[in-house]
Amino acid sequence: MQDVNLLAKHYLLASDFDQTLSFNDSGIVLSELIGVAGFPETIQGLSRTHMVQQGGELAYLLRHDPQFRCVRREHLIEAGKHIRLKNNIRLLFDLLQQIEGHRFSFYVVSAAPQEVIQSALEGIIPVHHIYGSRFQYHPETGEIQSIVNVTAGYGKVATLDRLRESLSISRDRIVYVGDGSSDVHVMLHVNRLDGLTIAVSENKYLTQIARRTVLSDDALAVLVPILEEIVGWNSARIHAFFESHGFVLQEWDKVRTDMLTIVRAPAPTGDHFASADESILS
Ligand SMILES: [Mg+2]
Repeated sequence: MQDVNLLAKHYLLASDFDQTLSFNDSGIVLSELIGVAGFPETIQGLSRTHMVQQGGELAYLLRHDPQFRCVRREHLIEAGKHIRLKNNIRLLFDLLQQIEGHRFSFYVVSAAPQEVIQSALEGIIPVHHIYGSRFQYHPETGEIQSIVNVTAGYGKVATLDRLRESLSISRDRIVYVGDGSSDVHVMLHVNRLDGLTIAVSENKYLTQIARRTVLSDDALAVLVPILEEIVGWNSARIHAFFESHGFVLQEWDKVRTDMLTIVRAPAPTGDHFASADESILS
């Protein structure tokens, strides 16, 4: 068994957290917990200015917005307990170790605060497999004193590169899973390295970049493009793999969606034709 593992191709599977492994954003859960109203509008407003990296808005607000000054480490831990997770994250982590000839190291790389993710995934994903945004707290008041690192936008690229190097994984053996605009930079980066990018939402920016899109309430769904694209299994073998672990792929619709907006072209004016005729004649 050990020989097989040594010979196995080693891959890094990095996943976003908010709305990729969960159903709701950490920021919304936290703002409800501390009674801050209008959080989605605040985020949208901040996002439109492009002052902070896409996805890093919560980290910015936690440090700079007076409404969030009351937040302590305990609030972040409590918010984590209120997050609704997708099904079977633990099983995904385990099954990734059981694919013949391949070894996948699963890590969470997310802009959500480290404490929120750790708390939400307690007993599911080991702490040292979680890379979230980190803060420094005042030793006496417990107030957020500074931002140590924000794993959003380009911050995800830097974290992923460091992680890949520390695990000695080759550049093309990366899989990245994400749902939103915070994942655009890292997906472009992974594509450039010939890795596999998987979108788990219909975000229009992301689905144009990601090599595969898979929509499901179950975290195990990302295994489908991994088994197809990396392991090279056909659908019969994938069905058999899921069945051997007690699951049935009840609805597996492969849909390629062409999204179009069609508008009427401006009517040609008489002048336009006149000038064209003139140029032909001259
Ligand atoms: Mg997300």
